[in-house]
Amino acid sequence: MMSPGGVVLTAACGVLFCTSASAGRLTVHDFTFEGPLGSQGSTIEEVGENHFRVSLGHAPGHEDWNNKLQFTILRNAKGKRLVLDVVFEKGRPRYYTLNEYAGSFSYDGSNWQPIHWEVGGDAGCKQDTLRFPEFTGDTVYVGHQVPMSYEDLVRLVEGWRANPCVTVHVVGQSLEGRDIYRLELTAPDSPYPPEKRWVHYFANQHPGEHNSQWRMAGAIDWLLSETGRDCLERSICHFVVMMSPDAPSKGWYRVNGQGFDMNRTYVPGGADKDNQAHEAYIAQRDLEGLMASATPPTTAWSMHTWGGAVDPRIIPGPEMGDAVGSWEELAARIKRNDPNGLFQEMQRWPCKEEKGNQWTEGTHLQFGITSVLCEGAGAIYTKQDNVDSGAILMQCIAEHYAGVKP
Ligand SMILES: [Zn+2]
Repeated sequence: MMSPGGVVLTAACGVLFCTSASAGRLTVHDFTFEGPLGSQGSTIEEVGENHFRVSLGHAPGHEDWNNKLQFTILRNAKGKRLVLDVVFEKGRPRYYTLNEYAGSFSYDGSNWQPIHWEVGGDAGCKQDTLRFPEFTGDTVYVGHQVPMSYEDLVRLVEGWRANPCVTVHVVGQSLEGRDIYRLELTAPDSPYPPEKRWVHYFANQHPGEHNSQWRMAGAIDWLLSETGRDCLERSICHFVVMMSPDAPSKGWYRVNGQGFDMNRTYVPGGADKDNQAHEAYIAQRDLEGLMASATPPTTAWSMHTWGGAVDPRIIPGPEMGDAVGSWEELAARIKRNDPNGLFQEMQRWPCKEEKGNQWTEGTHLQFGITSVLCEGAGAIYTKQDNVDSGAILMQCIAEHYAGVKP
């Protein structure tokens, strides 16, 4: 066994060598673009020690629309300082170079830290770089804005569902069979009949605008807190947190699986199964059902993310300045309740008929109700601040829509 012993020693050395080699540097095999937060069609190559280049894939039907940078380091990240060059070669200015928003990284998929681009926000940029701090865990999740996967949403919904004030409606399934949820929040033991309660409808259209989804999660959590109790007695609030739930695992920023830009999918003449994006048809048909019910929404909020602080733009409906204060009073109220500057000042938004395929204009054109394009929060970098912005927004809506309907 002496000679075999030597072989054993060699083999052991081999194992040690492999272990120490993989501990020394990350390899492309440590990365995956699959999973709850993915990036369809993206590829990675090594260009140096713990230094890689990623070429982003593109959205269905849009070769010039990059998918978002989302991936998981499956193992072996601890102690490494990853440098990632990300190529937007297929990108066009503005929407399609995705370095205008910070990313986030996490060791548990729940607690996120921002990671900023070296250049960032440069519309002409064809490539940008992320330099991560030394990792303190072996598994690392990286996502766009403060990401929310479909699996995250399912977990959130299961938590909210336990509250008797929450009814979870599955209004349909995405093309890949994921549930499209509408959460309905109201106090079941309210002293006010449902027809007297104010009704607000919130929905996110662009699936990659995750900060707006956390804004909605914050609004829901506020309603379910002690402070939100009074509002839940006087109102019914609906939330479609994720209209395009197939997107997070693919890194699609604006589209569904058919390649429809999800905020160019509204049909003001009425939901149209044959000509509308699959998930948008389901959501609009559901909204039309609510509008035809005894408790139709008074407001429709289209929840998005663009640069800067939260940026609400309003098309006021008939109750503004009549049954409730003017929209300018709502704007002033948000300003007063926002000590940390999470919001820009609410502005009036023009309702142009040619933009009726967008959910803000479309809902106003179809129903004549108050419609709000609630943009911004690209400059908000943490889950907590996004959640806080949703709490502020919901509190201001609750105060503005005082009492019950006349
Ligand atoms: Zn958007």
